[in-house]
Amino acid sequence: MTRCKDILSIIERDRETYLDLARRIWERPELSFEEHYAAAEQVKLLESWGFSVTFPYLGLKTAFRAEWGEGDIVFALASEYDALPGIGHGCGHNLICTAALASANALRQLMTKERIPGKLVVLGTPAEEGGSGKVLLERQGALDDIHACMMVHPKSSPTYTTDPGCTANQRATIDFYGKASHAGGMPEQGINALDAMNLVYAAVGCWRQQLPEDARIHGVITAGGDRPNIIPDHTQAKFYLRCVRNTYLETMKVRFKNIVDGACLMTDCTSKIDFADTATAARKPNGSMNKMYMKALKDLGIECTVPAKPGGGSTDFGNFSIVRPGIHPYFGICDNEYAGHSVEMTAAANSERGHQACLNAAAAMGAIALEYYTNPDFRAEVDADFHR
Ligand SMILES: [Zn+2]
Ligand SMILES: [Zn+2]
Repeated sequence: MTRCKDILSIIERDRETYLDLARRIWERPELSFEEHYAAAEQVKLLESWGFSVTFPYLGLKTAFRAEWGEGDIVFALASEYDALPGIGHGCGHNLICTAALASANALRQLMTKERIPGKLVVLGTPAEEGGSGKVLLERQGALDDIHACMMVHPKSSPTYTTDPGCTANQRATIDFYGKASHAGGMPEQGINALDAMNLVYAAVGCWRQQLPEDARIHGVITAGGDRPNIIPDHTQAKFYLRCVRNTYLETMKVRFKNIVDGACLMTDCTSKIDFADTATAARKPNGSMNKMYMKALKDLGIECTVPAKPGGGSTDFGNFSIVRPGIHPYFGICDNEYAGHSVEMTAAANSERGHQACLNAAAAMGAIALEYYTNPDFRAEVDADFHR
């Protein structure tokens, strides 16, 4: 047995505080690096519970670090709180920060009462959606004194699952430059930057047929010209190159660059490729922590399944999980299966079912942290898994 039930009952005592936070952040969705309200509201609560908070943190205005407790063992809970353009909290990050705070406050209460030593850290990590806040924090040493870390993520499905891993993600922006000219009057004078983009999009579509199953590439055209009668002299697109194997991303980058160069040759355009320097790594889920997540949920009567293969999405938690033992498991927040990043998921992130699942997952996360503080055998297993 884990202490999951005890932790859940401590969480339930302040249920309204946590759900109020979840609702308020849901109602005020903020995009990556603009999460001023969500970060400040979490900081207020953490300070009221006696956590010592650094905010802003490591040069990121909407990042924070909250610490409580004393002891040699340091466990961190990662909080996320950014939303998506157009669909608000369609990734349910309002529930991620709520789970982190509920878990942290319950751990603080239980560890105080039972005099359990250990340092607890809540890391407020902004801009998961496309900004790689965790990459920037990790690079600056945010995890240096931390032994293990975790977070929980909602899933637009009825099921809870362990962390199956995910793809690494290299973001790329491409620009084509041509020459403007009247498309009807003097087409022969123009160099068409939209033609180059069109050829890239078509070539990527062909390339996709030969990609291995664990690789993905997809993009959107963010600038495609202004008027039909002006040959576009500039176009821009953003692509994500993904693969479960970190190493294969390098191969993909070479091919992608060849495609862009090919489009230049075919159209006389020039180009610029910007591969973001904050690529996210494929997650390395810790097997022992995954097992403990299943065990903790079982103590609440919840079945947690093991996905057959890694997820096709990506997250900056990947970069945490390759430097410290960690997991990013899931909790189901709706009655049916829906797509992630959908309006259905946005609605579920503010539903009663979503709220309860969030608190259940918070309790499971607390149970894992507590096991880590108190059980040297578990710590040894976690470390052995990490180094395997
Ligand atoms: Zn997302
Ligand atoms: Zn997410």
